[in-house]
This record gives sequence, structure tokens and C-alpha cells, in this order.
Amino acid sequence: MSYRVNSEFKSDLKKFGIAEQWNECFHCGNCTAVCPLTENGFLFPRQGIRVMQMGLKEKLATYVDPWLCYYCGECSETCPREANPAELMMTLRRYLTSVYDWTGLSKKIYTSKWWEFGSIIIIALLIIVGFLIYLPLKSGADAMVNQSGSVMINSLVEGISAGQFVRIIEIGDWTMAIIVAALLISNILNMFYKVILSDNAVKVPFGTYFTEFWRLIYNFATQAKFSKCDDRNYWVGHLLLMTGYSIMFALVVIALPLFQIEEIVPWYNWQRLLGYYATFGILFFLIQVTIGRIKKQDTKLKFSHPSDWLFIIMLALTTITGILVHIFRLNGMVEATYYLYIAHLAVLVPMIVIEVPFSKWSHLAYRPFAVYFSRLKKAAVKKIEYQRELAPAI
Ligand code: SF4
Ligand code: SF4
Repeated sequence: MSYRVNSEFKSDLKKFGIAEQWNECFHCGNCTAVCPLTENGFLFPRQGIRVMQMGLKEKLATYVDPWLCYYCGECSETCPREANPAELMMTLRRYLTSVYDWTGLSKKIYTSKWWEFGSIIIIALLIIVGFLIYLPLKSGADAMVNQSGSVMINSLVEGISAGQFVRIIEIGDWTMAIIVAALLISNILNMFYKVILSDNAVKVPFGTYFTEFWRLIYNFATQAKFSKCDDRNYWVGHLLLMTGYSIMFALVVIALPLFQIEEIVPWYNWQRLLGYYATFGILFFLIQVTIGRIKKQDTKLKFSHPSDWLFIIMLALTTITGILVHIFRLNGMVEATYYLYIAHLAVLVPMIVIEVPFSKWSHLAYRPFAVYFSRLKKAAVKKIEYQRELAPAI
């Protein structure tokens, strides 16, 4: 495969993160010496910097290296030119997200504040207007106490029962989940094409797709790459976020009819305990990254792209409105529950629709796939080396 040097690429890349500090790199090798990912013939992260300095756009699209970086920041701390290679890896992850996204929306959302904020505001307004017109609040409070003494809230909405209301929300949830999953999966397939299929030199042994598959599941569930950081709290934060968010997703999308029922169950019921764990996990992560980004003492949290703050703000608003909905509902405050529920969905839905396939959330999916694809590539290289060794003997 031949590559053309593209000088415009550098200014394109600037829109995804740090300015051209990385151009200051004079290849002293300090970062490669300290980076735990460096192996024989694999000069991390210096190899990637060289490819960028040469503007080799097509070659970069086949790289999984930036996804393997777990953002420990050690390379940036040792760089004598302040080229900030750790932040460069983050910039590349944003850039590659836009490369995999065939719709072109990821690039617009990452590089234009109008697109980023505009798309979120439009989806939020559609949710609010849709509720107020098609699912208006029932006139008069409608909370009552059941025989066991716990507060029940009948349907909040005019003209339909509580069961019908849950079914409408469930249909909306599934529609959103299917669209978002289809976008994300198609982008991952595009990543697979660029990283594995388009490289004619890579012939992955068929069985390796299956023998390495467990790595994908393991890394997706644990985000284990972060655990290699000296700062273990950073990994704990990501693990709590991932498990908390997955539990919330399972409760409000897959098991909504079991979760969103009229009766208020006791605090020790499995639904409430799972919900409390998920809320704790998300809050822990939010507090950890917010403090880190404000203090700017940790190298990996010194530089914040607007998408980093937007992600934190939207997740915080979703969590706070979710907690308030729960408190108001427990206390039988029907009107407040209804309006807070709309506010909750007006933040949650744009966050999922925009962030999961096109922005920050997609990184949690691309990372484990990158680990999987890099193992496939390694297996392909090993096979070639083995065949070369055999050749003279044959
Ligand atoms: S330490 Fe800095 S100057 Fe040296 S190779 Fe790495 S990025 Fe370049
Ligand atoms: S931030 Fe990434 S590239 Fe830098 S030392 Fe850590 S793992 Fe290596």
C-alpha cells in the first residue's frame, strides 16, 4: 500500500484537540522509553507522532495504537519539548472516531460548537414539546396509598393508564436503542474494515477471531487497560461508570416494565439496590473527573476539550434529575415527578443519541475492539514470520 503526504492534515487535526505542540517533537525517544506499551519493533507513542508529522492520513486510519494508550500521562511528563504525547493520543482518539463514523456527524460534533450544542438542544426540545403535546399531565394530583401503606402513583398522563404510559416509554426506549446500536455497530464495522480488511498485508488466521474474542468481552466489561495506570483510582472510576451505566441501561431499556411499576418497592428490593449502585458509580466517576479537570494537577486531566466538559455536564444533569424524580416519586409529588421526568429525558435522550455513536461514549466501545483487532493483527504477523522461517526449509 502506498501513502500520500498530506500537509493540510495537520491543521485538520488541530480542531480535534491540542494545537501543534506535537510538531515540536524531535524524536529523542524519552516517551518511548517510559511508555509501558513499548515493545520490540513497536515504538509507542513516537511512531504515531512520526506518521502525523508526515501527514500520512490514510496510514493513521489503519492504526489502533491511540486506543491502546490508557492515558497514564508518563510520556508527557518526560518530554523535554512539551510536545504532550499523552494528549496527542487523546486528540487522535477523537479524530479516529470521526474517521470510523460514515455519517460525518462525529466530525461536525467534535469540531463545531454549533453542531454539538445545536443537536443536543434540538433533541431536548423535541422531547419536551412531544411530552407536553402528546402526553400532558393529568389534571389533579393522582397519588394514593395502597393496602400495605406505600405510596402509589397512578398514571401521570391524561387519558392513559400507568401501564400504557410505561409501554409508550418502552417503545421509545427500544427505538432509540436500536438506532443508536445500529449506528455504533456500523461504525465499528467501518473500523474493522480500515484496520484489518483494507490492509492487504494482514491475513488473520480464521480461528483467531474466535480464540481472541474473550478479550473483547473482558475489556468491554472491565475497561482493563486503565488498570495498568499507577493511579488505580482512575481505573476504579471508569469501572464504576461502565458497570453503573450498563445496569441503568438494562433497567430502563431492557427491563423497564419490571423497573417502572406503580407500586413503590422497599429500599432493599433488587431494583432499588441496583439503581443505588448505578447512581453511586456514576456520581463517584463524576466527582473524580470534575475535581481532576478543575485542579489540572494530573497530566492527563490538564487539557479539556469542550466535548469532555459537555459529557460531564450532561451526565451530571441526567443523574441529578434522575435522583430528584426518585425522591419526588417516593413522596407522592405527582406534578413535580412529571416535570422532572421530562427534564430527565430531555438530557438523557440527547446524551445517548449524540454521545454514544458520535462522541465521547463511543470511546468505551472502540477501546475493547481496538485491543481485539490489535491481537488479530499480531496473530497475522506471527503467522507470516512462521511461514518465512519455514520457507528456507521447504
Ligand atoms: S519525549 Fe517528546 S520530543 Fe522526545 S520523542 Fe517523545 S514526544 Fe518527541
Ligand atoms: S499516556 Fe499513553 S502513550 Fe503516554 S506513556 Fe501512558 S500509555 Fe504510553
